[in-house]
Amino acid sequence: MVGAGPVGLLLTALLQSTEDCSVHLSEKRPEYTRTRMVQLAPYLVADSVESYRTDDIDGDSVEAIFDPPELEDALAYRQSIAPDLAALLQGWTLGFCPLNSIERSLSDLIDARGHGVERTSAVVTAEDAMSMLEPGDVLVDSTGSRSLLRDRLIPNPGEPVDGQNTVNVRLEYALVITFLYGQPYDCNEYCKYYKNKENPRYKFIPMVHRTHYDGAVSHVTGIVNISAEEYEAMPTRFDGEWLRENAPDVAQSMDRFIDKIKQETQGEILGDLEIVRIPLDLYRARNATNRRWLAAGRSDHPFGRSPVLLAGDSAIGSPYFQSISLGFENAMFLARLVAQRDLAVGEMLDRYELYIYKQWLRVYMRSKMIKHNKDLFESIDDPLALLDKLHIY
Ligand SMILES: Cc1cc2nc3c(=O)[nH]c(=O)nc-3n(C[C@H](O)[C@H](O)[C@H](O)COP(=O)(O)OP(=O)(O)OC[C@H]3O[C@@H](n4cnc5c(N)ncnc54)[C@H](O)[C@@H]3O)c2cc1C
Repeated sequence: MVGAGPVGLLLTALLQSTEDCSVHLSEKRPEYTRTRMVQLAPYLVADSVESYRTDDIDGDSVEAIFDPPELEDALAYRQSIAPDLAALLQGWTLGFCPLNSIERSLSDLIDARGHGVERTSAVVTAEDAMSMLEPGDVLVDSTGSRSLLRDRLIPNPGEPVDGQNTVNVRLEYALVITFLYGQPYDCNEYCKYYKNKENPRYKFIPMVHRTHYDGAVSHVTGIVNISAEEYEAMPTRFDGEWLRENAPDVAQSMDRFIDKIKQETQGEILGDLEIVRIPLDLYRARNATNRRWLAAGRSDHPFGRSPVLLAGDSAIGSPYFQSISLGFENAMFLARLVAQRDLAVGEMLDRYELYIYKQWLRVYMRSKMIKHNKDLFESIDDPLALLDKLHIY
């Protein structure tokens, strides 16, 4: 396994409890420092098909895409997850926690169990990964959105071509803005509308469930849509002061939004705004495995002999705060496949490709729907602009 981010760690922890399986996990970062607050989807710990499908936006897609036995098998696997790991998952679906606390808890759990995993601290190159592969090994690339091996899963003569194995849909450019508020604060669609009523251009949209009160402080995260030109002119991350000086219109919108929260609940912002500018990309690897190497009969190459699979953001990336949950779910499926030691390699890769494709359909539809709803929301007080965005037969 190359890459011990949340997905590589979860997959390692799942495989650690699998008979006849030992894991070699390599990670280049010496410590876990990412403090952004994330939340996992409740479907990760669902114990029935009904509770698995409770998501407002993709409940129906789940039914349309997956066959009932597939869902039942996935839920049965969830029930079999070791209690120490299951307890962590349960906790993360209840509220927010910093990304590095997920990473540290998983990493500590793997170390505390003390068996079946060898860990290496190193930057792994594609050549390193290939040279490590022995008969009977499975190589998993969980190195994130700038995947180490994604482009190499297509057997080209010469060097791999950048992006040759990726389908990318750029949905928008956005500022992800996070702040802490000293009172309980919750937000639904009515609240998003009312608090943005005087913001014609830059509407701050806290994601549903993106506000979280932990007893003393509310964590609020949301996004503001910006143009490609604005995106280019901004640094990767900055604070409220930079925003006020360099993008005063966005800052004013934030101030209006926050003033309305204060009027309602008489609290104060604690500290400053934390702002990251990101392109919101929805992408997938066209090939999430090396099945094309196997089909090409390239037994002269390590990728023509052993299975190689992408996991987490290496395989699929999606915006709107859903990616870790998707990566965790895909890791559960992959752990089940690896555990079936009598499964032929070709069959294993085909099943993984099909599953990843179904997950892609699901997240593609969900993300497009969220984007569409956001677009309509941006024009909600302008009927003509709104009608321009509606395509009705
Ligand atoms: C601002 C922001 C907010 C977000 N909020 C949320 C949220 O609320 N909910 C959510 O679900 N998702 C969220 N996400 C997305 C989420 O962070 C990613 O989906 C998640 O981190 C992907 O996990 P991963 O393990 O696949 O990859 P990563 O987290 O990228 O981990 C990859 C690991 O591989 C290691 N690595 C890379 N290359 C090598 C190499 N050559 N050798 C050795 N190690 C290597 C890296 O150091 C890293 O530890 C957010 C993303 C951003 C940018």
